[in-house]
Amino acid sequence: MLNQPAPETIAAHSVHAIDEQTGAIAPPLHMATSYARDKDYLLKVPQSYLRYGNATVTHAERVLAALDGGPDAAVFSSGMSAVVTLLDTVPHGAHVVAPSVMYYGTRDWLQRLERLGRVKLTLFDQADPSALALAVRPGVTNLVWIETPANPTWDLIDIRSAADTAHSAGAVLAVDGTCSSPAVTRPLEHGADYVFHSVTKYLNGHSDVLGGALIPRVDDERWQEVHTLRNMTGCILAPFDCWLLIRGIRTLFVRLRAASASAMQIAHHFENHPQLQRVLYPGLKSHPGHHIAQRQMDGFGAMMSICVRGGLLETGRVVRALRVFLPATSLGGVESLAEHRIIVEGPTSSVPDNLIRLSIGIEAVADLIADLEQALAQA
Ligand SMILES: *Cc1c(COP(=O)(O)O)cnc(C)c1O
Repeated sequence: MLNQPAPETIAAHSVHAIDEQTGAIAPPLHMATSYARDKDYLLKVPQSYLRYGNATVTHAERVLAALDGGPDAAVFSSGMSAVVTLLDTVPHGAHVVAPSVMYYGTRDWLQRLERLGRVKLTLFDQADPSALALAVRPGVTNLVWIETPANPTWDLIDIRSAADTAHSAGAVLAVDGTCSSPAVTRPLEHGADYVFHSVTKYLNGHSDVLGGALIPRVDDERWQEVHTLRNMTGCILAPFDCWLLIRGIRTLFVRLRAASASAMQIAHHFENHPQLQRVLYPGLKSHPGHHIAQRQMDGFGAMMSICVRGGLLETGRVVRALRVFLPATSLGGVESLAEHRIIVEGPTSSVPDNLIRLSIGIEAVADLIADLEQALAQA
């Protein structure tokens, strides 16, 4: 008897390797927006109309649910539409807790909800282990949002202890797992109630799909409300994008393994570089979150940041001199990207002037190291 297949196998086979109707070993693509009833006026499939889903959408959701170990999943037309939908389930005027350093889109949306009087918001320092316990208000806090590792300092937060803190206050814990993906961190196994992914990043992995996903720990009333909101607003991921996502996930584990190994090599190579003030990577012993990373991650992922000795000017020169790293936003694709974060986030950002965020891809690591060396030498 085979045990439950490992996540690598689930990903490579897209849950089920063979299409039951045809025997095809690659998943079919269903584009239909509407489904016919039979002579008894019954539907053959649970969804009759694409705003509620279709076979390809459901297939993508089954893969995502299996990878994170949840009973269900819902895909969205962007990461942000998944975030907005989950936040829509927070009762009017309720209290939300979120990190001060986090994906700026989510933080900006939370601050907007606060300005509109829709929620009360407390931001806390994820790098301080006691800060979350002080931020929650027992009986008042409805939702705790964390991001681990957090963009772009890669601070770690202990998911298990954050879940205990949230639950003892009567709140649910949602984890933004975008920057590590289920190949590296599976937050539901550590007590989280919801995992969120921007599937635009590692899960699709080829920089050609915009999408989001939510995976719950339990299928309860709040989860059904998430489905209802998505079905009503139609912020569902389109079938072709779901098909590309399923295809991308088939190589998730090998992509991340290669990229993480390169990230580790790059981090070690540049850790004591004279032109760098710091290298921020959870795999380095010098990283403040290293021990938490060892506990809750499989490997350390492929996101890192380097802080250049100097300010805005010197850092700008380094990013402009890169040739193999592409000067673009986003992360988690097969190509390595470098981004001068402060320029992108603008004046409200708390990111230091001299920080360059690196998303390590699957190119030859020697090319990436040589590229960074020549860019630093020129600056
Ligand atoms: C990209 C990203 C998001 C937003 O997702 P979109 O797909 O761009 O809407 C949220 N959180 C993190 C950590 C991200 O990197």
